[in-house]
Amino acid sequence: MKRKMLLFALLMSMLITFIPVAAQASDGGDIWVRIVRQYERTNANTGEIVSFDIRFYVQFEEPPFLQDGEVYIPIREAAEALGYGVHLDREAQSITVTGAANEVIRTTYLDAALLIINGRTFVSMQFISENLGLYAHWNSGTKTVTFTTPVTQFTYTPSGIVWLARYGGEIYHSRNNCGVMVSEWATRTTRRAARSSGYRACQNCW
Ligand SMILES: [Zn+2]
Repeated sequence: MKRKMLLFALLMSMLITFIPVAAQASDGGDIWVRIVRQYERTNANTGEIVSFDIRFYVQFEEPPFLQDGEVYIPIREAAEALGYGVHLDREAQSITVTGAANEVIRTTYLDAALLIINGRTFVSMQFISENLGLYAHWNSGTKTVTFTTPVTQFTYTPSGIVWLARYGGEIYHSRNNCGVMVSEWATRTTRRAARSSGYRACQNCW
């Protein structure tokens, strides 16, 4: 019974410490959130493997802030910068991360109400790290959070030209006769354009 009372008191004190957060959030605009996407690409012609990464900073309408040694970050912008969607449920106190095709990747139920400031839901750096599968690092000197993705491996053809079949889903091919399309109907485009339109590489010909 005593333990329950203690837990209740602890919860209450946590609720109370949430109150000054809103006051601090408006002047905490110094914190940067950087994303490092790691890749490893294989040249389909030569087999040569090259590692590289793409680095960028996430733009926020409501800035991240530091509270009791923990960085809080708007979840939606952070997730969207990585190509994920977010569904927030205030009543259920849950945050659902969705993928490119709107499929549910993970739903996390929180112990406390969502932390909402000026219409933006904030979560800790650790929460983003765990729910989006990223490595997180906080540099207190530069006030920068760096989220690093696991390495994405892919194969590419150096020309960068791919084929799209008229039918057969959102798939691009490295040749126009890989067996799952009508060759005469296939159209050429760049791999980059195909990928940015949501096309995926054909399993048959890559
Ligand atoms: Zn193919």
